[in-house]
Amino acid sequence: MSCAFQGIGISASCAIALGPAYLDRRGLGGAMRIAIAPEAVEAELDRLDQAVEAARLALRAVREQIPGHTPLNIAEFIDTHLLMLEDAALIDAARTIISDELCNAEWALQRQRDTLVRLFDEMDDPYLRTRRDDVEHVVSQIQGFLRGETPAAALLDGDLKGQVVVARDLAPAEVIVLHHRGAAAFVTEHGGPMSHTAILVRSLGIPAVVGIHNITRQIRPGELLIVDGESGTVLGDADARTLSYFRARLRAGHSRLRRLRRLVDRPARTRDGIAISLEANLELPEDVATARANGATGVGLYRTEFLYMNRPDLPDEEEQLAAYSAMLQGLGGLPITIRSLDLGADKTAEGLPRPGASTANNPALGLRAIRLCLKEPEIFRPQLRAILRASALGPVRLMLPLVSHLREVETTLRLIDELKRQLRADGLDYDPKLPVGAMIEVPAAALAARAIARRMDFLSIGTNDLIQYTLAIDRLDDSVNDLFDPTHPAILRLIHMTIEAGRALDIPVSMCGEMAGDPRFTRLLLGLGLRHFSMQPGALLDVKEVVLEADTEALEREAQRLLAHLDDTDPSLLIARLNAH
Ligand code: PEP
Ligand code: MG
Repeated sequence: MSCAFQGIGISASCAIALGPAYLDRRGLGGAMRIAIAPEAVEAELDRLDQAVEAARLALRAVREQIPGHTPLNIAEFIDTHLLMLEDAALIDAARTIISDELCNAEWALQRQRDTLVRLFDEMDDPYLRTRRDDVEHVVSQIQGFLRGETPAAALLDGDLKGQVVVARDLAPAEVIVLHHRGAAAFVTEHGGPMSHTAILVRSLGIPAVVGIHNITRQIRPGELLIVDGESGTVLGDADARTLSYFRARLRAGHSRLRRLRRLVDRPARTRDGIAISLEANLELPEDVATARANGATGVGLYRTEFLYMNRPDLPDEEEQLAAYSAMLQGLGGLPITIRSLDLGADKTAEGLPRPGASTANNPALGLRAIRLCLKEPEIFRPQLRAILRASALGPVRLMLPLVSHLREVETTLRLIDELKRQLRADGLDYDPKLPVGAMIEVPAAALAARAIARRMDFLSIGTNDLIQYTLAIDRLDDSVNDLFDPTHPAILRLIHMTIEAGRALDIPVSMCGEMAGDPRFTRLLLGLGLRHFSMQPGALLDVKEVVLEADTEALEREAQRLLAHLDDTDPSLLIARLNAH
């Protein structure tokens, strides 16, 4: 019988996917204690050893299969797990529990896992605390073998081509790995549409539905699923009529894409002749090709933190320079805005001495982005030097994330000056006029936009965080996601204020949050005066289609009316009127 689940849709250029379910079992189902007789201890120890060996072989096999072109150091990610399989604190301790407490191997592992997780949780060093995740992954893998399941091998094993991955939660780094293995769509129990995982999924061009509680318990492995990233519906065991309806929608989606493709080379000019810049947000080197294929005129946001993920160490200056220069080469002369590291909150990297999320209860309010970089100059300096050196190779801009204090901008500018002097002394080239801009993504920065604009060459509005921080809504928390509203009067005022600050100081203002890539808001943003948009590449042609039909003068008049009535009319009605014109 068919069944439907409702969650929050993440829709990419292609919103529908059909495929068999691949159930990520990590973290699902605990172990039960089963008492064993003293004479069964040897056999139980053997079972454990065999499961550990099977996990080791599976991980090694996966290590061999890693495609050569993968930009991420997945191998080292696997090595960490292989080392843990040798670790006495885990395996020997579980063996002792089996012998001393006469219990089954699953239970012994679970007990030892709980002890280690507790120990890691109590550690002051946040880096060590993140090791708990590795313990959990490794234990669930061995338990999978003990249960006779074909384990996920930390999500890396086997070909996932065309499959729909169903998981409790997925970190951005895991999504990258799954994408490399060919996953067609993602369905998770947790997560919000503005999480970095969701943004990454969108930019990879695959649909997802997040926030379906307990879905991992209701789906059978291999069951045919329909994922509708537009409506946020997941259908299981669909009947023939439903299947043919969705197949028709899939075909319609593809033919719309073909129609939009004709716009690729059309310059983005409004009907009244205003040139609009439509740039791409990039996360991974392979995104360059997608950006160009969708007619991006540059990169308005390159999220460099993905260079730091899925590896135990940090990329040094030379490695970063190589990555930036490869991107510049791939872009063939188009400008790129490289954002300095924005780790912390939901994005962590194993190689970081402090993985960003400070020990506080609110990592989103803690040591993140520019704050983390200024506190850890040994991380910031090599990145800035690499960006400066890349600026000698092509049109590069530098963008600072999560600025809230003027002194963060000033300290960074001083540091850049110092690094320029250093590079000169080292005989290394850089662009002396490298444009430096700030992201406006906390309300304080929007309110102080003029002061920031005075010291910067450009501003870029990050609506994902601006909405999170203004409306006090955790962008990862699906239980408050219905309140995540880009058209809230406070947000519209802050956006308008930032655009006006740029106009007053004659510097460009761009928007690189997800709102910029949502064609429902294109006319509104044009009306508010926005002329530079940056978005996930899959949205470029949808937005261009709206731009080509727009008349900025008329939209600006409408937007002025909207701003004047923000306190007495529902903004969504005003926006609907603006879109209807
Ligand atoms: C934003 O906050 O809008 C943004 C573009 O940055 P990120 O999503 O990477 O935090
Ligand atoms: Mg942000």
